[in-house]
Amino acid sequence: MSRLPPTNPAMLADISKVLYHESTILSRLDELAHTLTEEYRGKDLTCVAILNGSFIFMADLLRRIPLPLQVDCWSVSSYHGTTSSGQVNFRQTQLADVRGRHVLILDDILDSGVTLRAIHDRLAAESGALSLKICVLLRKQIGQARPIDADYVGFDIPNEFVVGYGLDYNEHYRNLPFIGVISEAAIARG
Ligand code: 5GP
Ligand code: MG
Repeated sequence: MSRLPPTNPAMLADISKVLYHESTILSRLDELAHTLTEEYRGKDLTCVAILNGSFIFMADLLRRIPLPLQVDCWSVSSYHGTTSSGQVNFRQTQLADVRGRHVLILDDILDSGVTLRAIHDRLAAESGALSLKICVLLRKQIGQARPIDADYVGFDIPNEFVVGYGLDYNEHYRNLPFIGVISEAAIARG
């Protein structure tokens, strides 16, 4: 049983559909973590988490991986409202030293793939990592080819704008414990 308080009613009213409750997300993370633990056992692993959206995913996933891994967080943004700006902004200048290490990029959601392509290319060019893989909590079904795909995926979801469990709409809703579709009315309100 969840130890969390009831969801704020006003926030809940802005959700048109809950896709995954917390218990469902955590069960899926158990499976993902098991796969990743076997994949990276005996290897020097650095997880690069893309903030802000992946902070809860990162915390819940990494606590389920009993390996001596390292973590680096990158602050990257490409979204304004519900559409990608197409422009990927790195707020970091200094990256962790991952030379000779295996790198797993963690992100909240793979949509167009523009953001992860840019992150992947920068790491591939500058980092000297032994390997580079991508793990996302969510992958949208967008009906067209992407410039990059994920190696590990929590859930494939419909092409709708989702919030909660770290994901925001204009910086709101990140602390919802579940993943849901935001209502048209909430989007219209801004
Ligand atoms: P992409 O470059 O793949 O189009 O966008 C990736 C980033 O856009 C994600 O890391 C996430 O921050 C944001 N994003 C894409 N789709 C959604 C969505 O449905 N909800 C939220 N909250 N953010 C999204
Ligand atoms: Mg993001």
